[in-house]
Amino acid sequence: MAYQALARKWRPQTFADLVGQEAIVTALGNALREGRIAQAYLFSGIRGVGKTTAARILAKALNCVGEDGSTTGPVADPCDKCLVCQEIRQGGDLDVLEIDAATYSKVEQVRDLTESLKYGPARDRYKVVVLDEIHRLSRQAFDALLKIVEEPPAHLTFVFATTEIEIVPATILSRCQEFHFRRVPANPMVAHLTRICEEEKIEASRATLRLIARASEGSMRDAVALLDQLATFGGGKLADEDVGRLLGGIDAELLSSLLEAILAGEGARVSRTIRSIEDDGTDPRQVFTHFLGFLRSALHLAQGLDPEQLDLPAEAATGLERVAAGAGYENLLRLLHLLLSSETVVRRADAPGLALEVALLRAAELPRLVRIEQLGAALPNPPGAGAPPPERTSSAPAGPGVGSDAAGEIRQFLASNHASLAGLLDFHKAHFAVQGSTLVVTAVPALDDALRDEAKAGQLKAAARAVLGPGAAWKTTPAAPRPPEDDSEPAAGPAASTPAPARRNAPAGQDTRPPASRTPPPGAEGRTAAEQDPTVRAVLDIFGGRVVDVRPRTH
Ligand SMILES: [Zn+2]
Repeated sequence: MAYQALARKWRPQTFADLVGQEAIVTALGNALREGRIAQAYLFSGIRGVGKTTAARILAKALNCVGEDGSTTGPVADPCDKCLVCQEIRQGGDLDVLEIDAATYSKVEQVRDLTESLKYGPARDRYKVVVLDEIHRLSRQAFDALLKIVEEPPAHLTFVFATTEIEIVPATILSRCQEFHFRRVPANPMVAHLTRICEEEKIEASRATLRLIARASEGSMRDAVALLDQLATFGGGKLADEDVGRLLGGIDAELLSSLLEAILAGEGARVSRTIRSIEDDGTDPRQVFTHFLGFLRSALHLAQGLDPEQLDLPAEAATGLERVAAGAGYENLLRLLHLLLSSETVVRRADAPGLALEVALLRAAELPRLVRIEQLGAALPNPPGAGAPPPERTSSAPAGPGVGSDAAGEIRQFLASNHASLAGLLDFHKAHFAVQGSTLVVTAVPALDDALRDEAKAGQLKAAARAVLGPGAAWKTTPAAPRPPEDDSEPAAGPAASTPAPARRNAPAGQDTRPPASRTPPPGAEGRTAAEQDPTVRAVLDIFGGRVVDVRPRTH
């Protein structure tokens, strides 16, 4: 028997076979059972999620005559055995036309088509026109098509499919019953791939199938095609390492080694690993992307996720679980947060290797979080405990990049992602406060006007949502008129109307230095300086600690 591509062989032939589109299957099935047949359907969604497959099945459902030829109307479950079903399956039914709009964008072609559609079906109950990639039609072709879509003859059903619904004209959309095909989620996809492997005698671990599912980004067709390629490559056996490599993945062992080096604060090892990656010819940008994904997996493990659920080979997942447990959730979150702020830099750098190295070396500075935690546990009453605790609450400037509070994080997000907006906010000395899930920006009228700009408003919303969650919003509150001497104090936002907790204790007037710095105990200068460091502040906030001593690094 001739070799048949898996994607073709395993193309769903009934609604029940359509993986990951349960909502659509249910809706279409109910409509068919009740005899509610639309004149035009629009199937949207990314490539390979079953749009044209569903269109074919719908054509079968409309026209199936049943195995014994006794079916007289549309059915929800076409038999897939009768002559009609067979012909539609093979693309040989004269009443079911499948047209690729990409090769069919001339007005004349569409006119000829609409002309031919005036006649009823030759044999079937319904003439079904499946127009794939409908967004590729020209404007004129759409207009020609619209005439027949507006007043379609009975027994004619259109099924339009598109990957880009945004550019389908509203005049067409408004006449269609629309179904959006979602990306196929990983679990049903892996289950389906598992079934194919069993039937086709392909050996593949669950981790490998998860890797394939991830690489195909929700496209079932891509996943099956990928499985096909890899099985051919491996002679029916998919080895985890081969798959990882072929999918452009970075060796999990290497990522793990990088993470361990960062967590241990071993800068030299970080640099060495990056050099070896560069020597292999791997794109540093890709390494960074994969490392972020790897770190995210670690974060999930620290949250208690089952390693089985990860898109990682079993061994790597177990190893990562150990590393994640050692690092702890907070540290991993900080690490990921820090690295995310370098993402754009690494992606756009002319020397991505260098940018990657700097980003990871900076990250390697973070493990002090771990040490202070351990220190805190080991030394409940550290030396110097007699010194008064620094008044952190009064020394927190509202400036960018400072503080681990939500407002500070939003500032940081803006600084990393929308530098010009961040600059504008700084220029107007905007003060940020968070009330529930709302970001409150204290704004002078000029800033208030500027923020009416749609793009800026969108960026601000995105920043609020990135930190406060998907439902977050923002608003402005008028700034109190600023006394002239305020200009000398950049951190003094006009916080009167919405004071941030951090500034509540700030004395009125110009002197907002912490009281500790006015009557410094011995060694306090170094400590105060250290407390201003954003990383140290973050550490103090997380662990509720305070700076006891400042010493130069020894390695
Ligand atoms: Zn049939």
